[in-house]
Amino acid sequence: MTSNPFSQHSRLLRQHRRQGSKPFKKPPKWFYPVAIEIKYKLFLLSFVKRLEKHTKRILFNALPAIIADANMLQRVDAWGDELENVMENISVSFDNEMTDDALQSFMKAITQRANAWNTTQFHNLVNTVMGVDHYAYEPWLTAHMKSFVLENVGLVKKLKEETFQNINQIVQSGIRGGDSYRSITKEIMGTDLEPGQFSKTKDRARLIARDQIGKFNGELTSIRQKSIGVSEYYWRTASDDRVRDSHDALNGMLCKWDDSSVYSDDDGETWKSRTSEMFDGDPGDDFQCRCWAEAKFTEPVNEEETE
Ligand SMILES: [Zn+2]
Repeated sequence: MTSNPFSQHSRLLRQHRRQGSKPFKKPPKWFYPVAIEIKYKLFLLSFVKRLEKHTKRILFNALPAIIADANMLQRVDAWGDELENVMENISVSFDNEMTDDALQSFMKAITQRANAWNTTQFHNLVNTVMGVDHYAYEPWLTAHMKSFVLENVGLVKKLKEETFQNINQIVQSGIRGGDSYRSITKEIMGTDLEPGQFSKTKDRARLIARDQIGKFNGELTSIRQKSIGVSEYYWRTASDDRVRDSHDALNGMLCKWDDSSVYSDDDGETWKSRTSEMFDGDPGDDFQCRCWAEAKFTEPVNEEETE
């Protein structure tokens, strides 16, 4: 075993040689985990639906009394405190239904699926190009997946907290401004014409799903390609009209895994600094990026065959 856990290049070349050193074939397309992103998105949307359900059941029931309290000028009860209690109740009742454990175990499952998908793409790459079955030794993987789980649990919790904070603020300022029950609840739930707080939360949930799965997939791709000695890749876009200009400008260009500030338009003869019109990063790094990296393999040199 080599001392660098990332480098399994030579083992792979030996395997390739044992099998007759056939010329390398063109790398297959590295597919984006669309189905996993959808699964994550559906989970987050159902999470928001639950937030909505608890808000309606608890806040909307308590709100008429709070508004009435606020309108009675001679009353000294602080309606603001009452509202704080109600918001706290929503949070507790939501947490009882969607426990930390449930959230954690969903995140673990989705992380494992995203990894399994990426592993399949990697396996397919090595198999197609070198004709070798490569079962990688990946001691870094457990920590990497754990960190992704933690980050995503945090993002979802933050989504919940921010939604409740915004609702609290809508109600506080609505009541101070003398708004009706109808107008306050409309601002939270929205109408056909005007989105409310929950549509904003749902939009944010969709963004998180696309962004996180894309980033995770990009990170694994980069680590795995580098582990087999691939230091350069061709930038490939998803080739649809959602591709950003700054990514389209890199389409087909040769790029370096260890230096995202350069590119080559002559297959590595010369390297240029990326222009201000070009994204500085690797596929998947940018917000909601669906681009992929086509690994550039170099054929083994002959002297390695003398063994
Ligand atoms: Zn992109």
